[in-house]
Parts: sequence; C-alpha cells; structure tokens
Amino acid sequence: AKHRGKSAYSHFAPEMTEVSHERLQMESRMRRALELQEFELYYQPIVETGSGRLHGVEALLRWNNPAMGMVMPDRFIPLAEETGLIIPIGEWVLEEACRAAMGWQQETGREIVISVNVSPRQFRDPGFTDAVTRALERSGLAPHLLELEITERLILDNSIETAEILRQLDRRGIKLSLDDFGTGYSALGYLKTYPFDTLKIDRSFTQDVMKEQESASLVRAIINMAHSLGLKVIAEGVEEEAQTHFLQREGCDYSQGYFYSRPQPAPEFDQWLKTNRR
Ligand code: C2E
Ligand code: CA
Ligand code: CA
Ligand code: CA
Repeated sequence: AKHRGKSAYSHFAPEMTEVSHERLQMESRMRRALELQEFELYYQPIVETGSGRLHGVEALLRWNNPAMGMVMPDRFIPLAEETGLIIPIGEWVLEEACRAAMGWQQETGREIVISVNVSPRQFRDPGFTDAVTRALERSGLAPHLLELEITERLILDNSIETAEILRQLDRRGIKLSLDDFGTGYSALGYLKTYPFDTLKIDRSFTQDVMKEQESASLVRAIINMAHSLGLKVIAEGVEEEAQTHFLQREGCDYSQGYFYSRPQPAPEFDQWLKTNRR
C-alpha cells in the first residue's frame, strides 16, 4: 500500500471527527425524537387539474427539534434510512396520516386519498405490510384511500420480494404511486411489470413547461404514455397559473404545488379544508 505521511492524517482528521460527531449527535437526537413527539406531519392538497377540486393529500414529514429547529426531510431521512430509524418513524407516519385522513372524511363526508412516502429501507423491512395493516385497522380508513408513494430506487433491485409485496398491497386495494418520475433510471418496462396506479411527474419537468419546449413535450409524452397504460398522473411542483392551463390542456389528472397550497401543519390544513370543501 502507498505510504501516507502523518501530515495527511492530521490534515483530514479534525474535519472527519467533526462530521461524524455531528452525525452521531443527530442520530442520538433522532433516537429520542419519537418518544419526545418531535415529529410532525404537514399536509399538501392534491387537486383535480381542471376543477381544482380536492382529490387527495400528501403527508410530508417535519422534525421539530429544540436544538436544531425545524429539520426538513432531505436533511434527516438519509440518516434515518442508514440507521434503520426510518422503520419506527415510518410506522408513526403511516398511523398518523391514516388517522388524519379518517378525520377529514368524517369532517367533510368525502373520501380523501392520503399519500404517504415510503423509503426503500422501510418497504423492505419484513414488518412493513403488517405496519400498513395496523395503520388501516386502527384508523378505520378504507385501503383504497391510502396511496403509498415509492421511487424508482425501490424497484431497481428487481427482486422477487419487492414485486410480490407490491402485488400483495395492490390486491388489498391499496394504491401505489411512482414518485419523482423522470429523475431516476426510468426503465419504462417496470411500468407494465408493477401494479402502479399513479405516476407523479417530478417538479423539475413541471417547472419548465412554460419555459422550454422540450419540457412541455416530455410532460405531454409522459401523460399520454401513463394514460395508455391505465395510470393516473399527478404533476408535482405546480407554482403558476399558466402551468395549470397547460396541464389541463394535456389532460393531466391531478396537480399539486404551491400554486394551490404549500404543505401545512394539521390545524392550518383543517382550516384550509373548511374553506375549500368542494
Ligand atoms: P417528495 O415526495 O417529492 O415531496 C414533494 C416535495 O416538494 C416536498 O418537499 C414539498 O414540500 C415540495 N413541494 C411541493 N410543492 C412544491 C412547489 O410547488 N414548488 C417546490 N419548489 N416544492 C414543492 P419536502 O416536504 O421538503 O420533502 C422532501 C422529500 O422528503 C420528499 O420529496 C420525500 O421524498 C421525502 N419525505 C417527506 N416526508 C417523508 C416521509 O414521511 N417518509 C419518507 N420516507 N420520506 C419523506
Ligand atoms: Ca412524494
Ligand atoms: Ca391497483
Ligand atoms: Ca416527488
């Protein structure tokens, strides 16, 4: 092996220590966060593109930590996955989201689909389907009102187990949606192999439909392809009215984004629901 001088280590060592210290500190905080009830779900409406009528709601996780303030998922989900903490955290998300959806249904007398993000590590855990069953049973929510959002990362492994669990969930009437479509490795074949109900067009495409002809063409092609395979389409990241007109023209089923509403904590979302109950 190549000899490395002492100076190389003394140069890198302090930085490394700092990073791993921060990591360890975050991990130990995360271990207590469930118990201390520091997690919170924010809710963002998914509406019918033409009418703006409420279709569903996506649950988005936030972590309120006294020392760190509000931590966004991109900052802590990767560590939660690495440490396996995503499993108990994900169970909490499922239960909380199903309970909230049942509450809205009782409040409005309408069926509202709740979309829950599931990371690969959580999905592959042997207890995953039981956790889904428990959340549905405890809340009383009908299976067709729960939509699990997964990414291409999950099905890349091409495993028989993954396919079997997806089919099992599908047979039980639970909805499956393919999140962030277009950002990953997009081997289109899996759209016909796996029982997806919904495809979510990543916001990087939605955001450019009025700026670039290429993005507009891509979005149009994705919508047509999804429809011909019998899938519904949700456009993510809709921020401007002009985008809603484009999406309506192209027949995109549902839309989600700041134009309609930002993700909101439960009390604010309940208020939003009262004034938008159509
Ligand atoms: P995602 O599933 O793609 O969620 C959509 C993200 O886009 C959310 O970010 C949302 O706040 C943001 N967004 C919504 N509308 C707009 C818009 O019009 N413009 C822009 N610029 N952004 C918009 P958020 O809440 O920070 O979540 C980030 C990611 O963290 C999510 O991406 C999802 O992959 C992950 N995540 C969130 N909650 C959970 C969870 O409970 N479990 C797991 N495993 N992952 C989660
Ligand atoms: Ca999502
Ligand atoms: Ca299905
Ligand atoms: Ca997404």
